[in-house]
Amino acid sequence: MSQDMEKKIKKITFLILTLLVFSEAKAQDRKWDDIDTTAYYKKHEIIRKRDTIVFINTASEFDTVVQNRMIGLFFEVYPKEAKRFNKNAPRKVTFVVTTEYQGVAATWGTLIKFNPKWLEKNPEDIDCATHELMHVVQAYHGYNNPSWLVEGIADYARNVFGINNKKANWELTPYKTGQTYTNAYRITARFLTWVEKRYNKNLVKKLNTAMRENLYTENLWIKLTGRSVDELWYLYTQDPTIT
Ligand SMILES: [Zn+2]
Repeated sequence: MSQDMEKKIKKITFLILTLLVFSEAKAQDRKWDDIDTTAYYKKHEIIRKRDTIVFINTASEFDTVVQNRMIGLFFEVYPKEAKRFNKNAPRKVTFVVTTEYQGVAATWGTLIKFNPKWLEKNPEDIDCATHELMHVVQAYHGYNNPSWLVEGIADYARNVFGINNKKANWELTPYKTGQTYTNAYRITARFLTWVEKRYNKNLVKKLNTAMRENLYTENLWIKLTGRSVDELWYLYTQDPTIT
């Protein structure tokens, strides 16, 4: 290959790489609440009593039946979660259906993004919104809260307040050797349920308040149950039945 040719190829490669990096950065730089309104965009705002949902759909193929079920779920589930876990929770929440978000769903502040592809494949899984709405209710702002517990509590709430879990084949993960309480989500949620049944029925409520007030420490488990979280987990593994 001639020197000239090599230089040209290097230059083109550099350009392509720069473009790729730039577009990637651009996608990530977009703020969570900066919703693309240039393509398909439909926005509804519905108020019932003290609760408001703003429903933004940016995916033309998204099923309106699922949309209406999610709106219904919001008005049914959110007030209950807020009543039990945070009476000062914000009363206006935004749902955004967008292919920009690649996971199932995620929450930042009061804005929840849902991936239409997930809901298309799993239309019964509307209670993923129950999990996300619990994150709105949690309203944690500190950085000391262990993420396994944040997610465990959100799935605990989905288990308690969910309206369609059975149809979605969603349940707390049965105990199996090899699990640990830091596995998060349904594994932690089942553990929390077990600890509440055996030691303190207000455990999750108290943990949640402490986390919101930035007062969570591992010591809290001892204060609330008389045992450390590791001791509790050990006892759980010995007899994980929930009666
Ligand atoms: Zn979550």
